[in-house]
Amino acid sequence: MDLLHAPRLQPFGPRSQREALLERLRPEFYGLDTEYELADGRRARRIYLDSAASNLRLKVADAIVHRALAHYANTHSQLHFGARIMTALYHQAHRIVLDFVGADDAYTAVFHGNGVTGCINRMARVLAHKRPERDVVITTLMEHHANDLPHRKHAGKVVHVPLEHDPDGEAGRVDLEALAEAIEAHADRLNYVAITCASNVTGIINPVHEIARMAHAAGALVLVDAAQSAAHLPLSVVAEDPAENLDVLVMSGHKIYAPGSPGVIVARKDLFLGLEPEEIGGGVVTFVDARRYTITDRLPDREETGTPNIPGALALAATLYLMGRIGMDVIEADERQLTQYALDRFEAIPGLHLYGSHRLEVADRIGVITFNIEGLPHGFVTAVLNDYFGIAVRNECFCAQPFVRQLLGIADEHGVAPDACMTRVHDATEKPGMVRVSFGLYNTRADVDAAAEALRHIAGHAEDYAPHYVPVPDGSGDFRHVSFRFRPHDAFDLEREVDAWLRDNLV
Ligand code: PLP
Repeated sequence: MDLLHAPRLQPFGPRSQREALLERLRPEFYGLDTEYELADGRRARRIYLDSAASNLRLKVADAIVHRALAHYANTHSQLHFGARIMTALYHQAHRIVLDFVGADDAYTAVFHGNGVTGCINRMARVLAHKRPERDVVITTLMEHHANDLPHRKHAGKVVHVPLEHDPDGEAGRVDLEALAEAIEAHADRLNYVAITCASNVTGIINPVHEIARMAHAAGALVLVDAAQSAAHLPLSVVAEDPAENLDVLVMSGHKIYAPGSPGVIVARKDLFLGLEPEEIGGGVVTFVDARRYTITDRLPDREETGTPNIPGALALAATLYLMGRIGMDVIEADERQLTQYALDRFEAIPGLHLYGSHRLEVADRIGVITFNIEGLPHGFVTAVLNDYFGIAVRNECFCAQPFVRQLLGIADEHGVAPDACMTRVHDATEKPGMVRVSFGLYNTRADVDAAAEALRHIAGHAEDYAPHYVPVPDGSGDFRHVSFRFRPHDAFDLEREVDAWLRDNLV
């Protein structure tokens, strides 16, 4: 992706060597061999196609963190060996994050909360306080709720920019002309443009550096939601032309093969300075008495009060370093081939409608594919894929209701749904939504083939499955099998695991 620029981590040798390393990495994730009993009594290895929600955890990083835990101690002490080692590793984790996104000294990395939702809420508050005279935020109609609602809560006004459409009328990237108009209309009050790098509904990629240039020309900032893209595309906050630098970029550890890791904010340091940190307590102060306290200017310390999630941050950093050394160019090219293969296979299924432009020459995308099968509720298709084929996908609105409703023709061109939608409790057969397949590094053409064949079968034989399902009467849009019961605690149970340890260790 030429527009997204190469990050700073040095590639580990020539491309062919890195491609070979990627092949070695593919099976190195937890949960790829997990088997479940299906509704027809077969046991099958699960096929995980839900990486846009959370991807599977990388064993290599886990093993490295386990070795680091031999030294575990709380950070921010320079006296005993363990504390010194952990403090050094925690600093290293911040540096790796910055290198992964090509950041220079003008930026800081802050580990925060559980993912992008917390990071964007935090930055919406910070930016509203930083520039109170600029109370308008521009976002788009293709955002996850996490990159929309926090701005609605903290800004005076939020403007939603519509999307481009390809020659088939399918939604593509943000409409840059409409964005330019919105920026011009609000230039004097515009605080920032908040934009996703890649959509969690269509996978379509936005030209974030170009958007940064447009925002900066009006004195506004740009905040990029990299929740979906971080693990799949090279992306640098620093561009060749500084006018295209990104001011804030946020990522989720659990979407970068490190579930259990925090979210990360990479932001220009000056955006934090001059404001009291959002959260205060231990580790951020230089002086405290019963009446006064002073806050350090040291970053990221002043933005990370309290004891951090050290193992989580180390796991994420080890993962980012590994991916950066293999090369996001190699990872992107590999996933692009799989995505194109999947689009071709899915498109050929009679009755299956793909959402968003799937003309890669018009709208480039990552491995996130949404669709519906004519006449079949998304909750039904998703349940059958799981129960009879062991294929894990997601359905419904993916926390992007305005966008999904618009793609379904329910919301108008401004993303506004009819009033009745607010209060209506839907029957599962008509609940708005779609089915989403999404890929991680561990997915192969065989996974795509399995999904395509299962979908073709469901589309052609829905009447065989329909009598086995009833809608769940809770407005969720889910369906459940009438006789097959899957009990999560039969598969895994914390108390049973602990009791087994107790029994095994009885003396
Ligand atoms: N933004 C996008 C584009 C997402 O896909 C998601 C999660 O699916 C989020 C934000 C929210 O991320 P998190 O669940 O890590 O808070």
